[in-house]
Amino acid sequence: MNRPEPRSELRKPLPANLLAALQARLGERVSTSSAVLEHHGKDESAHPLAPPDAVVFPETTEEVVEIVRLGGQYNVPLIPFGAGSSIEGHVLAIHGGLSVDFTRMNRIHAVNVDDLDATVEPGVTRKQLNNHLDGTGIFFPIDPGADATLGGMAATRASGTNAVRYGTMKENVLGLTVVLADGRVIRTGGRARKSSAGYDLTRLFVGSEGTLGVITEITLRLYPQPEAVSAAVCAFPSVDAAVRTVIQTIQLGVPIARCELLDALTIKAVNRYSRLNLREAPMLFCEFHGTAASVAEQAQTVQEIAKELGGLDFEWAIQQEDRTRLWQARHDAYPACRQLRPGNRAFSTDVCVPISRLAECIAESNADIAKASMPIALFGHVGDGNFHLVVLIDPGNPADIAEAEAINKRVVIRALKMGGTCTGEHGIGIGKLDFLDAEHGAAVPVMAAIKQALDPRNLLNPGKVIR
Ligand SMILES: Cc1cc2nc3c(=O)[nH]c(=O)nc-3n(C[C@H](O)[C@H](O)[C@H](O)COP(=O)(O)OP(=O)(O)OC[C@H]3O[C@@H](n4cnc5c(N)ncnc54)[C@H](O)[C@@H]3O)c2cc1C
Repeated sequence: MNRPEPRSELRKPLPANLLAALQARLGERVSTSSAVLEHHGKDESAHPLAPPDAVVFPETTEEVVEIVRLGGQYNVPLIPFGAGSSIEGHVLAIHGGLSVDFTRMNRIHAVNVDDLDATVEPGVTRKQLNNHLDGTGIFFPIDPGADATLGGMAATRASGTNAVRYGTMKENVLGLTVVLADGRVIRTGGRARKSSAGYDLTRLFVGSEGTLGVITEITLRLYPQPEAVSAAVCAFPSVDAAVRTVIQTIQLGVPIARCELLDALTIKAVNRYSRLNLREAPMLFCEFHGTAASVAEQAQTVQEIAKELGGLDFEWAIQQEDRTRLWQARHDAYPACRQLRPGNRAFSTDVCVPISRLAECIAESNADIAKASMPIALFGHVGDGNFHLVVLIDPGNPADIAEAEAINKRVVIRALKMGGTCTGEHGIGIGKLDFLDAEHGAAVPVMAAIKQALDPRNLLNPGKVIR
C-alpha cells in the first residue's frame, strides 16, 4: 500500500566523471565501500535496504554547494544523512544517488548564554550539544530517543519527552542556513525571538525531510536549567486510568515538563533491557521543572488526580543519576521492545490527537492490539496526545507485514477522524505518503508546487514527502 518499493529501473550507475570530480574535491571523503553504502541505505524501520551509489562527507557549506552543483550537473539524487535514526524510510536511496553524510560537520559555532541561543552545524547531535552546554546553566530540551543530529531533527521536525513543556523543533529552530537545489545559499530567520519579516522560510524547511534544501547551519533556542527538577513514576490499574490522569493534568494547565505513558508490555521490556524493577503495569513517567515551590505544587496536583483514578503512590527518582537512569530507560523503550521478539523488525505507528480524544484513541487502539497475532507495545509522549504502537514483525513474513500495515492504517484513520495527525513526530518519509494525502488532501498539490519551485528536477531526496 503506502510503501513504494525501491525503484531499481530508475537507478542509473553513478557517472564515472561525477565520482572522479567528487574524489578530486573531497579525496577520501567519498566512499563506495559496500559497508558504508549499506549503512546509508537503511534506517531504523522495517523498510527494505536501498543503498546509495556513493556517500560523501562534506566539512563546510562551500563543499555542500559544490556537491549540490555537481549532483545537479549529472542529474543525480542527493539524500542528506544525519544519524540515520529516522523510521519512515527517510534516508533510503530509493532512486540511487549520493548520500550526503553530515557527521563531519559537527562544530558548535556559537553559544550565546545571555540570549539563550546557539548556532551549530547539522551533524552536531543533541547529546553533543548538551555536553557542550554542561556547566553553563542552559540546555537544549528536545530529546528524541536516539542521539539524532540536529540537522536530522530539524529536517524531521522532531520532538521528544520534553515537548509538552518546551515544544518541538518547530518552536525551537530560530534560523537556518540552507543550500538550495541550484546551489544558492540562503539564510532564513535569525536570532531575534520574533519577526514579521516576510514568509516564514524557517518553518518551511523545518520538517521538509531534505526534499527542499540541504541545511548546513542551525540557530537553536536554549533554556535555563530549571531551579528544581523532580521525577516520579506512577503505576495504574489500567492504561485508561493513566491516560485520564494525563488528560486532566493537561486540561488543568499543570506545566508538566515530561509525561510519558508506557503500557505493561513496554514496562516488561524496559525492566529486562535496562535492568529496572518497575511494577509490570501501565505507568506514567513524569517530570516537573520550576522553582522548588512550583515543582512541589505541580507534583501534588498530579498525585491527587492520579490517586482519584486509582494510581498508586508516586515513586520518586530523587538523585540526578536515578533520573538519568529512568529517562534513559524511557529513551530505550524502542530497542527494549524489539528484544521481546528476537529477529524481529519494529513497525512503529506515530499518531497524535487532540488531548480530549486521547483516551478514546488509545482504548480503540488497545482493542486492535488485543486482536493482533504478534506482540505490540504501546508507549508515547501522551502529554502531547502522541503515542506509538510498536508492532514486532517478522520481516520475512508477508502476512506479518500486511497485518502491521493494516493496524497502522486503522490507527491513522482513527486519529484523523478525531482531528489528529498521521505522524506526531516521525514524519512522512516513504512510509506515510498515502496518509499525507488522507490528512491534507488539496493542500498536498500546494506542497508539491513548493517542491517544484525549489527543486524542479526532483533531485533532493526524491520520493519522500511528495510522490
Ligand atoms: C530508538 C528511537 C527513538 C526515537 N524517538 C523519537 C522521538 O522521541 N521523537 C522523534 O521526533 N523522533 C524519534 N525517533 C526518530 C528519529 O530519531 C528522528 O526522526 C530524528 O530527528 C532523525 O534524526 P537523524 O539525525 O537520525 O536524521 P536521519 O535519519 O539521518 O535523517 C532524517 C531526515 O532528515 C534529512 N536530513 C538529515 N540531515 C539533513 C540536513 N542537514 N539537511 C536537510 N535534510 C537533512 C534526511 O534526508 C532525512 O529525510 C526515534 C528513533 C529511534 C531509532
